[in-house]
Amino acid sequence: MKLLLILSLCLASICLGAQNLPIPRNLEKAYTAGTRSLDGQPGTAYWQNHATYDIAIRFDPSSRLISGKEEIVYTNNSPDTLREILFKLYPNLYKQGSQRLMSIAPEDTGDGMRIESVTANNQVLMAAKWRIRGTDMSVQTKVAPGQQLRLKLQFNFNLNKGSHIRTGEVEEGAWFLAYFFPRIAVYDDIDGWNRLPYLGTQEFYNDFCDFKLALTVPRNYAVWATGDLTNCAEVYNKSFCDRLARAETQDGIVNIIDTTDLKDGGITRPNAENTFRFEASHVTDVAAAISNHYVWQSSSVEVDTVSKRRTRVDAVFNPKHHDYWLVCADARATVKAMSYDFPRWPYPYNHETVFDGLDQMEYPMMVNDNPLEDRHESIELTDHEIFHTMFPFYMGINETKYGWMDEGWATIGEWLI
Ligand SMILES: [Zn+2]
Repeated sequence: MKLLLILSLCLASICLGAQNLPIPRNLEKAYTAGTRSLDGQPGTAYWQNHATYDIAIRFDPSSRLISGKEEIVYTNNSPDTLREILFKLYPNLYKQGSQRLMSIAPEDTGDGMRIESVTANNQVLMAAKWRIRGTDMSVQTKVAPGQQLRLKLQFNFNLNKGSHIRTGEVEEGAWFLAYFFPRIAVYDDIDGWNRLPYLGTQEFYNDFCDFKLALTVPRNYAVWATGDLTNCAEVYNKSFCDRLARAETQDGIVNIIDTTDLKDGGITRPNAENTFRFEASHVTDVAAAISNHYVWQSSSVEVDTVSKRRTRVDAVFNPKHHDYWLVCADARATVKAMSYDFPRWPYPYNHETVFDGLDQMEYPMMVNDNPLEDRHESIELTDHEIFHTMFPFYMGINETKYGWMDEGWATIGEWLI
């Protein structure tokens, strides 16, 4: 009680004091331009830039080489003529000589992301037109207000084996792929281009974009990713697509890939390579996971009583990790609680996949969580990472600058659920 009183007095003094606080220049400029307003509503002149990404990558498990190409259509909704396009090359965190705030084993450092070519509006750009510094790449080109720019890039890099910082090899035969493609940085009304370097500790800030991802892997490897799998019959044998369809319509847990299937084989189509295709609209990022020896449990929840829309919830894991046999049910309970209890908001994605990894990290529709033996810790972790769906992903928070916002909300959500 005493604590509450002190807290109330503190809050009151903060509220009274706030009226006299100076406004940072970048925010003041946004208020003057009408892109933001003092009551917190978007200003009448508010805008966000947007892109569509069509990404095709191939993963070689033996060398961990990721090679790919992407086509981006970038729309400049800002009132400014952009004379450069700033990219984030996150794999450069692992580049020899890059600045970082987290330690990386010498054997995990290398070339970072190798850019093979850049094309802007069908013109091949000379290498002098792009400049790489740490995790940023500036490409000299021009896009006027309201105009679109079509970019094509070819790139490759070797995924880290150790030094797992939200991405990399989990164990032999299992990988989590995040931040694996050249990504246009956010250009916003507050700071212009987001030039804050990625040094490993910070989290991210991205525009809402539409993605198509085609990920090619050798036979017997399965792939999970942000977005809807659009070609199940081309990559899985029929009984597995039937199980997936069943999971998407029922409350009970379906074993899509179980230990017997792993022993028998014949899960993926008998081609030398299979290309898994995913599509996602209006999301801030895309992540993927690959394995040849994980089981896959799945269920679904009706998240909207009006539209009857359902969200599929998956746990994909090494069957030796005992706590993971309960993760699908815990994840399902979280999605349900978020839809009906707190924040009581129909879960916005078609699926949520928790992958047995080495981190405790969220991505749109995907989670990379290490196994935990303690039952309470396992529940909290699953809840917490899934809760990030709303903060930061649905809210589009700049986590690099305001990480306390999404971590604060995810922690409250985890406790309430
Ligand atoms: Zn968190």
